[in-house]
Amino acid sequence: MTTNTKPHQGAHQGQTAFITGSTSGIGLGVARAFASQGANVVINGLGDANEIEQARLSIEQDFGVRAIYSAANMLDPEAIKHSIQVTEDEFGMIDILVNNAGIQHVAPIEKFPINQWDAIIAINLSSNFHTIRAALPKMKQKGKGRIINISSAHSLVASPYKSAYVAAKHGVAGLTKTVALEVAEQGITVNAIAPGYVWTPLVERQIPDTMKARNMTEEEVKRDVLLLAQPTKEFVTIEQVADLALYLASDSAASITGTTISMDGGWTAK
Ligand code: NAD
Repeated sequence: MTTNTKPHQGAHQGQTAFITGSTSGIGLGVARAFASQGANVVINGLGDANEIEQARLSIEQDFGVRAIYSAANMLDPEAIKHSIQVTEDEFGMIDILVNNAGIQHVAPIEKFPINQWDAIIAINLSSNFHTIRAALPKMKQKGKGRIINISSAHSLVASPYKSAYVAAKHGVAGLTKTVALEVAEQGITVNAIAPGYVWTPLVERQIPDTMKARNMTEEEVKRDVLLLAQPTKEFVTIEQVADLALYLASDSAASITGTTISMDGGWTAK
């Protein structure tokens, strides 16, 4: 299973990074970034089994680290706990935990499907609680750790028709602060990255619903809804988010904790 063909000396050599929702988009970019710095990675998420295996293999081949796949569904607290346990048994500890899994649904609140509300709160917020709860004891025991929650500009401001997502992401900001205070003296930092719009499958998928909710064309949604919010008029890139995650996991970032760092092209400055 392991192909350590290209031993790598990077900033995270020998460490383990566990990234939820990393079969696609930002999470996969973050997983590859940590692997590029020598970390063994656990990728997680839904999707086509062959594509996931391809993504896992290419991390091992490109960076000479170990990459394992966890199929834990972020809706399932027991599966999350088990996955953290399996990772610790395999690698000793999780040095870097990145809570990234997330979904979106766009609808006016009175028509918002209850099952979508429940799923968004569970995946975008509660899964962070469950992974942190399970991974912290080992981090505390070792006196080190980095927890990075991928939140959103929507953890600081709202947009209409995204009640569940905005509520969950505001919750992540509160969870981030709380856990940071609880572990502040133990060599563990807890932060959130709040991107504006990043061009990923998640954004692409919400365009049809936004077109329906606002009665707009695709181009209008991109220009007048998505990039309207972003003064730079540019999508944030996956690589930019991944670089910030690398920085937050570095020794230089030891004094950054309990905060949400915006990477939103100026969106929340308004
Ligand atoms: P994406 O759809 O490309 O990836 C989401 C990942 O989460 C996938 O790997 C998917 O399989 C996984 N996932 C979904 N449901 C899951 C479940 N039940 N259990 C396990 N994994 C599950 O989306 P993305 O744009 O890369 O988003 C990643 C994170 O970044 C999300 O938390 C999102 O809210 C946040 N974010 C995205 C943007 C953006 O513009 N794309 C902006 C701000 C914040």
